[in-house]
Amino acid sequence: MSIVGKCPYCADGTVIMEKKQVNGKSAKVYTCSNASWYSEDGEVFELKKEATCSFRIWGNSLLKWGKRGIGIFEVKKLLQGEDVDVRLYSYQAQKEYFKYIALDKEYGVSVLWDIEVERPSA
Ligand SMILES: [Zn+2]
Repeated sequence: MSIVGKCPYCADGTVIMEKKQVNGKSAKVYTCSNASWYSEDGEVFELKKEATCSFRIWGNSLLKWGKRGIGIFEVKKLLQGEDVDVRLYSYQAQKEYFKYIALDKEYGVSVLWDIEVERPSA
């Protein structure tokens, strides 16, 4: 468990990184110290009643866009209110995208599809 930063959604929460078993695999999640989760089936996690905050970002949220993990430095930036540029890839379209991600209360993070990020010169 490591401390990532101050929770943006509540007054006294700390965002921590932990690992949870999801579908029998270890998955990284960034969550608020005031949020606690339970899962009946080891697949879907729900907020416990006593939780006062719902902040969480699953490390693999962007897996379907070809991004294997969201790193601790990326989450630190997001917590400081910065958008983070990412390289995404659609296997279906066989296309690369350079976009920003931002905090999203419902999904943890969301991709800002409308904004073009300048491609890094390789
Ligand atoms: Zn919080």
